[in-house]
Amino acid sequence: MEYIWGHSRRFNAYSNYFRRTYGERRQKVSVDAGFTCPNRDGTVGTEGCKYCNNASFNPSYCNPADPISEQLRKGIAFHQKRYRKVHKYLAYFQPFSNTYASLEKLKVLYDEALSFPNVVGVVVSTRTDCMDDEKLAYFAELSAKHHVIIEYGIESCYEKTLAWMNRGHTFAQSKEMIFRTHACGLRQGVHLIIGLPGESREEILQEAGILSALPVDSVKLHQLQIIKGTPIESEFQQHPERFSMFTLEEYLDLVIDFLELLRPTIVVERFAGEVPPDYIESYNWGHIRNEQIIQMMEKRLEERDTFQGKRF
Ligand code: SF4
Repeated sequence: MEYIWGHSRRFNAYSNYFRRTYGERRQKVSVDAGFTCPNRDGTVGTEGCKYCNNASFNPSYCNPADPISEQLRKGIAFHQKRYRKVHKYLAYFQPFSNTYASLEKLKVLYDEALSFPNVVGVVVSTRTDCMDDEKLAYFAELSAKHHVIIEYGIESCYEKTLAWMNRGHTFAQSKEMIFRTHACGLRQGVHLIIGLPGESREEILQEAGILSALPVDSVKLHQLQIIKGTPIESEFQQHPERFSMFTLEEYLDLVIDFLELLRPTIVVERFAGEVPPDYIESYNWGHIRNEQIIQMMEKRLEERDTFQGKRF
């Protein structure tokens, strides 16, 4: 059976989106352009979000001291060993807030990435309060010739949770910027964390409906992870009862319930985050790779005979 996203997988998968759109895979290559974020440099806060440790997901080939082109050279060489059939890449500006600088500085960095051989686009991870109309216009201009996707960390649709995590911006701000980004014709994705303290199962599932009503093109889901050295680690140690730490099986079922409520046209990029075991405090599912989680998810979708958007 073929679903409305054009294949038989039971969710609108990111990898298939690229094959369908370009006829081949596009591989993201992370770069660290040395940005900071307003929740760390004192503009809105100095402590950062409670769960944040950027080092936990930054690949070893990313060194902000290296020029962007050098990081891309190393990153492409790394991925070429793993994915021999991939020939086109997207520079993934990942750590911190990658629009948190003057437009002039952004132009230098993004133009350098886009002039690297075989880099056909950029993925720009940022906060909604680090975007403005001038920058949106610049990215919209780039998107006329390149693949551009803006990735916003919204993390939760609830103001109470954003206040608890010390996010330093509101969901109302995120919503407003999502509409403005869409109005500029840009593709955009959002990150959402599943299992945040104070959010009931019903509230988590309601987020699927809230996101579906926004002009969002893709979503990345992450389970809450207790990363060593973050403020959330000490809160977890002192008040473990505040945290609903799901087993992998419980998490998969919760995410499937979420998927059933999600708009079918939203591309799903991730079901869970993958952090090296050294960074995890006390709770984890073992060292499970993202590919394994996808396989388990597909098996569970089959067992439950369900699919993305079934109850949308
Ligand atoms: S998660 Fe992002 S926005 Fe929050 S402190 Fe870390 S870099 Fe800043």
